[in-house]
Amino acid sequence: MFGLLTRRIACVTSSLGFRNIRNIKTKMSDELPNVVFVLGGPGAGKGTQCAKIVEKFQYVHLSAGDLLREERNTPGSAFGELIENHIRNGSIVPVEITCSLLANAMEKSGQKKFLIDGFPRNKDNLDGWQKEMGDKTNVQFVLFFNCSQETCMDRCLQRGAAGSGRSDDNEESLKKRFQTYVKDTMAIIEYYEALGLVRKIDASQSPDQVFEDVKKAFE
Ligand code: ADP
Ligand code: AMP
Repeated sequence: MFGLLTRRIACVTSSLGFRNIRNIKTKMSDELPNVVFVLGGPGAGKGTQCAKIVEKFQYVHLSAGDLLREERNTPGSAFGELIENHIRNGSIVPVEITCSLLANAMEKSGQKKFLIDGFPRNKDNLDGWQKEMGDKTNVQFVLFFNCSQETCMDRCLQRGAAGSGRSDDNEESLKKRFQTYVKDTMAIIEYYEALGLVRKIDASQSPDQVFEDVKKAFE
């Protein structure tokens, strides 16, 4: 009734369960699509750096936030209101929706190198991804943009003032987004860190300086 996304969500939901990450590979795979997860606080510069990585290293950039906003704006979407409520509250949309949007976009691109930006953001995301995509993709590493809350907050407020049109680039939403980041996402970064898969970047520098460090992570 609601089309492909709903069917995929039904499929993901029916098979979800908790499972640990297995068989993580840090190198490029010739067969499986390669994935770099991009994490960091709101406004750390993930989108800015992903654009540069796409240009230099020919990855496909998929932002979980962008895909959710696109779905929210799709006329007739069964999930528009639910997504908007989560976005305003800075809380995390159920993984069935986010993972399905990512899987659809990967499939549609026909490519094999992906930057997945803003995902996995919590344990629910991680477990959902592993269950649905773990055997179908090769996680190369996690690119972690480390930046103080103050700097991130200033950048998002400036982005809002410059006309981003985002319903969450305001102080109230940002406080909640940060709480979610500290409470849920840091644990995911620590999890990958323990597996030796995190490449940590000082994101407080200028965009070009940050990119100098990013390049080293890919080369
Ligand atoms: P994210 O994707 O992590 O939310 P963005 O890439 O959208 O962050 O960046 C947030 C804002 O900060 C944007 O307005 C962007 O132009 C600006 N910005 C990004 N990186 C830097 C940087 N290194 N120094 C200063 N401003 C930056
Ligand atoms: P972003 O564009 O990455 O700043 O994300 C904006 C908002 O979209 C977040 O505050 C969440 O409400 C939602 N969102 C983004 N990524 C995810 C995700 N991986 N899982 C669930 N919700 C997400």
